[in-house]
Order: sequence, then C-alpha cells, then structure tokens
Amino acid sequence: MSDDCLFCKMASGALDVGKLHDDDLVFAIKDINPRAPTHLLVIPKEHIVDGRDVRAEHGPTVARMFVVAAALMESLQLAKRGYRIAFNVGEDAGMTVPHLHMHVLGGRRLGAEG
Ligand SMILES: [Zn+2]
Repeated sequence: MSDDCLFCKMASGALDVGKLHDDDLVFAIKDINPRAPTHLLVIPKEHIVDGRDVRAEHGPTVARMFVVAAALMESLQLAKRGYRIAFNVGEDAGMTVPHLHMHVLGGRRLGAEG
C-alpha cells in the first residue's frame, strides 16, 4: 500500500469507485478514458509498480487478473469475438498510474498494437 497511490486508495475503499469486480486479490473498474466501446482495468490490490516489478511470488495475483478479465468479458458477451489485454510499462508506454494494471479492450475491431 502506497499512501499517495490512486489504485491503492481504490483497493482499500478509501476512494469509492464503481467496482465491476472485487475479491481478495484484485478488483476491476471501467477506464475513465475509454479507447474502445468496452475498456476495463483489472488491478491487483497489492502495490506492484509495473511489469518490471512482477516476481514469481505474484503468480497467483497475475493469474487472477487474467481469470477475472476473462469472466468479465464473458459476462459482457465479448469473449467469443475476442478482445485485447495490454499492460503498459513505464513512461514511453504512456503508463499514467504507477501501479500495475491490465487494460482489457473490446467491442470493436482493434488495430495493431503500437
Ligand atoms: Zn498502488
């Protein structure tokens, strides 16, 4: 937990946001600046900075992120047609909140990455 971290505040409940999913390891919200008809963020409750900070011990948390993303997209009936999962890492990738988060985008044909 980092006191000045937006996602840690959401994780602890200090900042009330409409969570689409909430369990012991991760939660999910809608991206406030959606780049696709459906744009979700799946976020670990533990403060992991970014992909460079992921360690073997984070395995269960990272796996849960994928499981939750799949379940949410299934519930939105977007699983069959497909969607994108992306992690930005650091400044060049446009990462704005330095707390690991998975972007889940779908609902239209997506262009190539980059
Ligand atoms: Zn954090």
